[in-house]
Amino acid sequence: MPLLPRRFERIKSVLNHRMSNLTILIEEVEKPHNLSAILRTCDAIGILEAHAIFREKRIPTFNSTAQGSQKWVKLKKHTCITEAIQELRNNRFKIYGTNLNKNAIDYRSLDYTGPTAFVMGAEKWGLSKSASELVDESIYIPMVGMVQSLNVSVASAILLFEALRQRKERNIVPSSGEGLSKNLYENTLFEWSYPEVASWCKEQGRKYPELSITGEILEDLPRIKELRY
Ligand code: SAM
Repeated sequence: MPLLPRRFERIKSVLNHRMSNLTILIEEVEKPHNLSAILRTCDAIGILEAHAIFREKRIPTFNSTAQGSQKWVKLKKHTCITEAIQELRNNRFKIYGTNLNKNAIDYRSLDYTGPTAFVMGAEKWGLSKSASELVDESIYIPMVGMVQSLNVSVASAILLFEALRQRKERNIVPSSGEGLSKNLYENTLFEWSYPEVASWCKEQGRKYPELSITGEILEDLPRIKELRY
């Protein structure tokens, strides 16, 4: 089916608000409704890519809570926490681990306007010892109830919306695509507009074709089954 200009405009308007310098790293969060709720929040905030570590061979599953947000937020899977945190650090992210221990700092007292990654722990166990040792700061959300912790998707939403609030206050929330490099913007625009063609190009090791201003593909591609567009 051809991509309708209205749909293309909608895709662009969402992409214009995406940020590559705010993210979340989830460590062995297992339940589909939690994973789904976290990605839905990432989509709402304007996060381009989230990161996750899953137990060996586990394939992440989403349920209706996601409302399709897993299509619009990339989920990068890592094999171990050390490698995941190192990659984020190499990309200049400051790493905030969520921890309910005594040394953690009230999340409201820190600044999240620079490249920020929140590390969220598993439903049952929280953050692993390695993750807690690797993060730059440990933060917590104060609570006064009987139950010891919040649901992980709720805690993720509180932290991400705080980061967004601070960025709004500083007037640094993107609205015209400035939250992504030109290359990342164009590649993501293509992937969101033509996911099947994008997968085929990747398989073929081909650059994505250029798009016209109204979203048409400006290249004659082979008429094969995989390329219905
Ligand atoms: N028993 C676990 C513990 O001691 O960490 C509880 C895990 S909690 C259900 C799952 C995750 O939600 C935590 O690892 C953390 O990422 C997040 N979380 C829950 N409550 C939080 C709070 N008050 N402050 C910060 N993060 C919280």
